[in-house]
Order: sequence, then structure tokens, then C-alpha cells
Amino acid sequence: MSFATQSFQGDKNKNLSLIDKMAEHEQVVFCNDPSTNLKAIIAIHSTKLGPAIGGCRMQPYEDFDAALEDALRLSKGMSYKCAASDVDFGGGKAVIIGDPQTDKTPELFRAFGQYVESLHGRFYTGTDMGTTLEDFVHAMKETNHIVGLPEEYGGGGDSSIPTSEGVIYGIKATIRMLFDHEDLQPVTYAIQGLGKVGFKVAVRLLEEGATIYVSDIVENNIERLQEHAMTTSGTLEIVDSNEIYRQPADIFIPCALGGIINDTTIEQFQFKAIAGSANNQLLKEEHGVELAKRDILYAPDYIINSGGLIQVTDELYGTNKKRVLAKTKEIYNTMIEVYKTAEMNQVSTVEAANQFCEKLMAAREKRNSFYTRTISPKWSIR
Ligand code: NAD
Repeated sequence: MSFATQSFQGDKNKNLSLIDKMAEHEQVVFCNDPSTNLKAIIAIHSTKLGPAIGGCRMQPYEDFDAALEDALRLSKGMSYKCAASDVDFGGGKAVIIGDPQTDKTPELFRAFGQYVESLHGRFYTGTDMGTTLEDFVHAMKETNHIVGLPEEYGGGGDSSIPTSEGVIYGIKATIRMLFDHEDLQPVTYAIQGLGKVGFKVAVRLLEEGATIYVSDIVENNIERLQEHAMTTSGTLEIVDSNEIYRQPADIFIPCALGGIINDTTIEQFQFKAIAGSANNQLLKEEHGVELAKRDILYAPDYIINSGGLIQVTDELYGTNKKRVLAKTKEIYNTMIEVYKTAEMNQVSTVEAANQFCEKLMAAREKRNSFYTRTISPKWSIR
């Protein structure tokens, strides 16, 4: 498969000012509570298809602009992710400015919960980088609009289960495009990160009898996988973290860090495809074009890793694991559609995915406009 790239526009937004980016959003809320030291931003990109949803990140941002930029970028991304997963939610995101190691208190998360509650169901949130389920057990004392809670609190539990299932469906779609079959066994893989998602994907591939090259910076994760590999017919090769990019594998499965597809790593790739769970894998959107130029098939991260989102949004209907897994299976069809569109239109898979989502958003918005004026949307989960 080869791609022409001249029609690719890159990130159309990259030169917009912060004010312009805010203007693309429905609502941006600044949360300032001196009594708990809470400084946070909630960005709501769109509620046209349902309440906005997006995790809450906690990070010691360099300055306020950096936090705002992150919230705006991530909430817009959530609108696309929700459209691709066919869930009745729109895009939102929250960021708390602070060090997750030293600045967390139960009171801070309760204050954050009060701000979420003040939006009356326009925004649902839960864990993201730097926040944990325990933090949201504090926040949920102030608001019902928290998702992804532990099962004992009425949530769906471990979201890495559907996320890893979705990654396997995405890998199957990728194999279909590369080799015209869906057998996981004869293909070779390089997995970066053996955490909640990467470990489950690795176990599944070993159980299928495949050969996998893996890296992690935590020795214990590697030892656990070595132990498990002995009970399977698969082959496990442990490699140094810096060497994972140059392994002779067919498919690279990044399940750790963002930004790992960049000028330096691309030069090392011998992979035929990249299909993993990590968020924001491309350092810049242009790197998606570079992959296409090199005939490396790239599974857009926000589609292949959407199993977790499918689970947390399913809480709207009362969590049902069978329903979640059935919907997660659809990732296969979405990936095939995106790959085929990219091939047909001679654009990168990133651009094809964005266009695919924009079309879906427009179509659903039109459909929803028939009833939103007469029936108030059911925006309360609990
Ligand atoms: P995790 O924190 O459980 O696992 C990450 C693993 O990566 C850890 O084992 C860590 O030691 C390892 N790691 C860190 N730096 C590394 C390096 N330089 N080289 C090799 N390994 C390294 O996280 P997770 O929940 O498994 O998520 C993995 C990725 O998928 C993240 O980017 C996350 O944002 C994304 N994601 C996760 C979910 C989910 O449901 N858990 C959903 C969507 C996206």
C-alpha cells in the first residue's frame, strides 16, 4: 500500500492563538479555590452529541497557558474519540495544576467535584494521567458526574480490559490490511510497556503462539511475563528499552509513552505497522504523514485505544460487560474503514480518521437536531 501526501494539510490548528482555540469550545471553566489550593481548568469542546466526557489530568504545568493549551487540545480530541466510538457523548477534559506526588488532598478533589457538579451534568470525568480511582472516590462525594469508578462504587471496574481487547481487534484489522488474513500467530510484534494494557496484549499474543519482543523499565513486569510465557507456546524476547524501536518485528505496539513516533525513532523503524494503546503516539501530526510516506501503516491511537471509553460511557445504561465487549469489537470495522479510506484518498491514516469522525459528528448532529428541542437529554448517570 502506498500513500501520496500532497493533499495532507497537517494540524490545521497549530498556528491558532489560545483565544482562537478557546473560541472553538462551548465552555471553558477556571476553577480557583484558595482554601484547598485547587487550580483547575475544565474545557468543554462540544455537547452536541451528549454531555462532554474526558479524564482529569494532574500535572505541574510550566505555566497557566500550558495547562489551558493541554485542556483545549485534549477536550477537542475527545470529541473525535467519542464520534469514532459511536457513544452519545461529546468532548471535554479537565486539568488540575499541581504535582500529583505532593499536592493531592481529599479536600482538593472534593472541591474539584463541586466544580464538576456546578456544570449540572454537562461534563463527566474520571481518572487520567496523575489521578487515581481513590482521588475520584473523594470527588464523587460532591458530584454524580464521575465515571470509571471501581465496581464496588457502581463503576465498570478495570478499563484496561476492554482497552486491551480493542487493541487486539485493531491489530487484527491491521493484519488483514497487511497480509490479507487475521491470524495473530505468524506475525511478529514489538511491545513497549507491560503495564495494565501492554501486559494483557502480550499475554494474548503469547497464548496465540506468536513471537513478541518486549521492553519495560520495571523489572517486575518483565519477570511476571516471563513466568506466564512458560505456560504458552509463544516466544518471548526481552529487549532493552532503547532498543525496542529497531526490533525486526512486523507490528510495533506502543503501550507506554506519548510522543514516541518522532524524527529519531522513525529512522529506526523496520516495522510494517504501528498499532498500540498509548495516547498521543505521534510527537507531531506530521509524523503520521512521514509514516505513510514510508509505507508504515499507522492505527490512529484514539480509535484503537477506545475500549476504555466505551466501558466508562456504558455506565450511562448500567454497566454490562457483554455489551461493552460487543461494542469494542466494532473497533475492527472502524479501523478497516479508516485504512481503506486512507488508501483510496491517498492520505495518511491520521487525516482519514479525522475526516471519518468529522463526517460522523455532522451526521449525528443532524439526526439529534430532530428531538433535542422537545425532549430534554438524559444526562444523569446515577
Ligand atoms: P500503565 O501505567 O499501567 O503502563 C505503562 C507501562 O509502561 C508501565 O509498565 C511502565 O513501566 C512502562 N514504561 C514507562 N516508560 C517506559 C519506557 N520508556 N519503555 C518501556 N516501558 C515503559 O498504563 P496503561 O494503563 O497500561 O496504559 C498504557 C498506555 O495506553 C498509556 O499511554 C495510556 O494513556 C494509554 N491508554 C490506556 C487506557 C486504559 O484503559 N488503561 C485507555 C486508553 C489509553
